[in-house]
Amino acid sequence: MRVLLTGGMGFIGSHTAVVLQEGGHEPVLYDNLSNADRAVTGRIEQITGKAPKFIEGDIRDQARMEEVLRDEKIDAVIHFAGLKAVGESVVKPLEYYDNNIIGTLRLLEAMRATGVKRLIFSSSSTVYGTPQSLPLRESDPTGEATNPYGRTKLQIEEILSDLCRADPTWSCICLRYFNPIGAHPSGLIGEDPNGIPNNLMPYVARVASGRLPVLNVFGNDYDTPDGTGVRDFIHVMDLARGHAAALPYCMSHEGWKAVNLGCGRGYSVLEIVAAFEKASGRKVPVNFAPRRAGDIAANWADPSLARELFGWEAQCNIEDMCRDGWNFEQHRAAELAQKQS
Ligand code: NAD
Ligand code: UDP
Repeated sequence: MRVLLTGGMGFIGSHTAVVLQEGGHEPVLYDNLSNADRAVTGRIEQITGKAPKFIEGDIRDQARMEEVLRDEKIDAVIHFAGLKAVGESVVKPLEYYDNNIIGTLRLLEAMRATGVKRLIFSSSSTVYGTPQSLPLRESDPTGEATNPYGRTKLQIEEILSDLCRADPTWSCICLRYFNPIGAHPSGLIGEDPNGIPNNLMPYVARVASGRLPVLNVFGNDYDTPDGTGVRDFIHVMDLARGHAAALPYCMSHEGWKAVNLGCGRGYSVLEIVAAFEKASGRKVPVNFAPRRAGDIAANWADPSLARELFGWEAQCNIEDMCRDGWNFEQHRAAELAQKQS
């Protein structure tokens, strides 16, 4: 199948492109490079033996999107494109609503105009807000988002639901990601945020490699076994395989669905630190800091719906995630050292 990956040059999109190519599909990557590097296609070529087609463009450019959907004979769209930094969204709400909400509306209008009505959307477990019970099931109520980023995910889910209700020939699947970490085992692609990372895993990796001095652990007085936050971490390759598994379902069913992609168990911040120290053989010094605003104590998924509908379940464990995250960090550190010399 010919699948358009908006935001396909980013962290999750690039891993999904690898999995789709290896599964015999033809991904077309559409990205404005606001948070990605042009070199990604070459890296995918090194992994799969073939560079995917890349088109530079913005999802808010409806005319261009229509052209691409038509010219590339696209069968389905996986919509990753968007801004995703929680803290930044609080400071720049208009940019987040413009990019994520307006961008999605323009994409949907382009899809309608070209008759492409199959969409898989990158949603997030953030839509559940503060869990009333764990594990989180898709039938649980969505909650109050604590920041503009989270609100865009919730609003887009609702837009897609309204669209499917109004025109039942659409198929829209909202994949609610838990916490994707790790990297492709080759170390060629992974997550390498600019500046100081907001998320736990890239931060831990940089402390282990000496690029940052110490990990601030945000809160050790939560109602969890060791007092630190608990999350359902999922290997990005498993997450990528989840998209490939959702594709046939999306093609053969109509209507709106939300589906969790998680492993179904939680690890605390301190458990992640210990697992990363083991994988890297390096010490990760920690400093206990106050809770981060907007954080919840714990969340993890009930991933059974994805198994039932897509025949998918996560295969990688926490050791795999830390090993591949560390391998990628070492590749990046070596590249940076080479650039500086
Ligand atoms: P990413 O930033 O690595 O990838 C997003 C890509 O979209 C980038 O390559 C960026 O250049 C591109 N992009 C942004 N705005 C665009 C626009 N207007 N037009 C075209 N391209 C644009 O992020 P990611 O971690 O790969 O996340 C992908 C999606 O998954 C996002 O929608 C994100 O909100 C969602 N998500 C991510 C996580 C996570 O922890 N990484 C968790 C839940 C949901
Ligand atoms: N966290 C931390 N220090 C950091 C970054 C994150 O202690 O530098 C904690 C955070 O408080 C949460 C967990 O790690 O309990 C996961 O945070 P992350 O930002 O990776 O993902 P989130 O679940 O918030 O989307």
